[in-house]
Amino acid sequence: MNSESNQGQDDFVNFWSKLNDIFPYLNYRKEQFSIITAIQKASHNILLIDAETGSGKTAAVLSAILSRKEKDERILIFTKMLGQMDAWFRELGLINDYNRKVGQNIYSLVPMVGKTNICPLVTKFTKKQFSQIGCSLFDCTHIKKFHFMQNESGDFYALSRRVRSSIADNIKTGVGLAEILWMLENKLENLGCPYLALKTALKDADMVITTYPFLLNTKLREILFENMNIDLANTTIIIDEAHNLAKGNIGNLSYKILYRAINEIGSHKVLNLLQNLRGQEGLHSLDLEDKDIQDLNNCGRQYLLKRFNQGSKEIGNTIKVSEFLQNHDLCYLTSDKKYTLYLKDPRIILNPMKLAKHLILLSGTFRPLKHFASFLGVTNAKKISVLSEKIGKNRIILTSNDSQLTMRYSERSRERFLYYCDTISQLLKVIPGHTLVFTPNYELASVFANLLKTRYEERPNQPITKLINEVKRSKTKAAIVAPARGKISEGIEIVQNEKSLISAVIIAGLPYPPPSRSLKEIIKEYSKFWGGEQAANYMNYLQAVVTMRQCLGRMIRSENDVGAWIILDNRIPYMNVFPRAIECKNSAKMIDRLNFFFKEHNLS
Ligand code: SF4
Repeated sequence: MNSESNQGQDDFVNFWSKLNDIFPYLNYRKEQFSIITAIQKASHNILLIDAETGSGKTAAVLSAILSRKEKDERILIFTKMLGQMDAWFRELGLINDYNRKVGQNIYSLVPMVGKTNICPLVTKFTKKQFSQIGCSLFDCTHIKKFHFMQNESGDFYALSRRVRSSIADNIKTGVGLAEILWMLENKLENLGCPYLALKTALKDADMVITTYPFLLNTKLREILFENMNIDLANTTIIIDEAHNLAKGNIGNLSYKILYRAINEIGSHKVLNLLQNLRGQEGLHSLDLEDKDIQDLNNCGRQYLLKRFNQGSKEIGNTIKVSEFLQNHDLCYLTSDKKYTLYLKDPRIILNPMKLAKHLILLSGTFRPLKHFASFLGVTNAKKISVLSEKIGKNRIILTSNDSQLTMRYSERSRERFLYYCDTISQLLKVIPGHTLVFTPNYELASVFANLLKTRYEERPNQPITKLINEVKRSKTKAAIVAPARGKISEGIEIVQNEKSLISAVIIAGLPYPPPSRSLKEIIKEYSKFWGGEQAANYMNYLQAVVTMRQCLGRMIRSENDVGAWIILDNRIPYMNVFPRAIECKNSAKMIDRLNFFFKEHNLS
């Protein structure tokens, strides 16, 4: 008993003395201290951390896991998108710079990315096709060179070490993923293929960072684990922005793509099956074997290669269908205006990761935590939620209980849209900078952009960077209207010099998923394990919360960003997601609050 408590004390002292060396800032904020303490104390293997964007959670988590890391323990980080890796490289860059100064070891973080992001032969004209069929697009000699180099050196681990130390040498203050990939592509060219070189570095890398496809796609996950030679029991896994996993729906395919695929390759067992299911009610389990999907994929590849050699730049629709069906065995298919795959049981999504030594799920959007934990099948996980004091001061959250401000389907009308736009126009007058206005869908975005007379509107299939650059160049304040499940809401940053250019985000109607027969059917199925009320809540309310928080997150990119979140839908007070929200009776009250807030921050 005594030796156990002595051991506990030693661990505690070691942790905090290591942390003091590693933590890349002079002091930790209160919310960072809460996160660090939770990780230090974590005895549960699963930890859910809800911490707002800008609260410094990446620095806190990274320092804490490095401080408690044992000698052979490995760390694997998943981010939803490549761009979200930058935050991890940025914090590690600060840690490495300090270690360089004091003569300590520097850390390497191996980014496992798709070939498209690192292949030296890919150009912007061939990127799309390469992402679908990979190396067979080119007559490439790099692969031979790589194997020749490997055989020459005769020491696999020396090559792996060389790649890892090149990555570590380049992780410095201000360096992000793009610089690391550029270095791998250009400085390691004598190794032949940089992608294969990167893969060798996975074998004994202490820290690896990759994206969700390697988490969610069974085949890709197996490739990653095999290349890492992973022992889950000795690995800490971190999943960033993990609220994104709380979905039943894991893929959609339009009828249009199916018919284009039929045009590409003609009749095929898989395509015929999908065609026969078009419009049929109910949840369908697809009676398909892996070899059927593989065969479809091969047909799609042959077609695409032929077209590519004829000079076409098109992307293959047959391949899109085969990609859509990747995890079909875990899912039900519905066919209601489009094909949708719903997980048969969303609680299994984390199962492969539950064997990890520690599993840390991070999000700025995890509230209410217990519902997310239940959705993800980790009800017994330790949960912590931290609010940032500084962000609380720099941001005002306004909600409304105006009876005319709701986007319930049954109440949508032209008069309602006019009322919304009139309210928004009044608010825009007192907002000092650019404002993002999110509507529940593309159709309403178009209606609102017209009524608000703004040219900044996100349209379907539009190159979004062009729109963002126009906003950045605008000399006057702009209202940008976008759908809640569009590209801007998904993670486009509107920043300059690391500062958000957005002064306010307005949610013009809560983004509940559109009612559909498919949704009704899947809720009925999920009721079997969650109960009717909970299943309906999770598939409607929780999805609206995740989408709304994602939209709101476009404004605050750091704790110094100042602005307003304005939620124009009177159903919001019942959702209990914003403990700091100020409920306003009408737009006049909102305007008073906004005037006061922006004046207080010298921004009016
Ligand atoms: S082998 Fe490497 S360099 Fe060659 S095409 Fe494939 S990814 Fe590109």
